[in-house]
Amino acid sequence: MNRLPACPGCGRAEDRHPEIVLREDGIDLVRCAALGCRLVYSNPAPTDGELADHYDEAYDDNDVGSYESSRARAFGQYVALMERLLAPGARTLDVGACFGTFVGLARAAGFDTRGIDISAPAVATAQAAGLPVEHGNLDDLADSIEGGETAPFAAVHLWDFLEHMPRPLPTLRSARRVLAEDGLLLCAVPDFRFQRVKVAAGRAWERASGRTTGLTTVIPRVHLIHYTPASLRATMRRAGLEPVLIRPGTQNLPKRKERHRLLKTVAKAAVRRAAELVFHATGEVVGQEIVCVARPIASSPIVEGA
Ligand SMILES: [Zn+2]
Repeated sequence: MNRLPACPGCGRAEDRHPEIVLREDGIDLVRCAALGCRLVYSNPAPTDGELADHYDEAYDDNDVGSYESSRARAFGQYVALMERLLAPGARTLDVGACFGTFVGLARAAGFDTRGIDISAPAVATAQAAGLPVEHGNLDDLADSIEGGETAPFAAVHLWDFLEHMPRPLPTLRSARRVLAEDGLLLCAVPDFRFQRVKVAAGRAWERASGRTTGLTTVIPRVHLIHYTPASLRATMRRAGLEPVLIRPGTQNLPKRKERHRLLKTVAKAAVRRAAELVFHATGEVVGQEIVCVARPIASSPIVEGA
């Protein structure tokens, strides 16, 4: 783990007494003081080497069933969004494809989708299932597209991916580079406003009941950037992408190995209540995650006059 000297979103040096919005497991969640940024990030953060090791180990158990069931609901929503926005059969790229679950779903829906992931064991599992998922990183793929070896994509999707990236700007710029001129970037990240209320509700419930709820963590060693719609929008623009749609999305509840029926019911009620509290506090509909569609700024129509 490394202490970051500056905000990974805008590069502003961290204050001597930074605003720490949450503390968990020895990690500070620091909010950048720059008014045009306000990004919340985990500090210290894992080094690149630690991250690479993590993603090789995290998916080495080949627990495909658990991975798929934990994402089924969200993935269904993402396919529906693609069907609404993209031409039938559009050529798309799934970044952070893992076992290829989403690639399979998108292909079943008629899209010409392929995937890329840095986790060798996860990619091996995807390929064994006959899914077009490659081991590699987005930068190399972007280079091969600019070199004319691979065609650009009509859409690139980053589902539950961007929050794992320690440096969002290079990641988004690379994602932009694999897109066709009129292409779309689609992404989903946890909504930090929701996460904060969820953690507060979970901690209160644990204190009252003496039970663990699985609701008290923002997994700050794995989720490194904690976005709100405003900070996601600012980060996108800095990377040369203009958000054209931002809306709340739903994820599944954390999966627990030994589920207690009553606890599950209470946890669901707590999550629902948390969403209501955020709604009353902010006047905004807040989901568990933020779904965002953006397009390269260079491709925006230039409006003259008016
Ligand atoms: Zn910043």
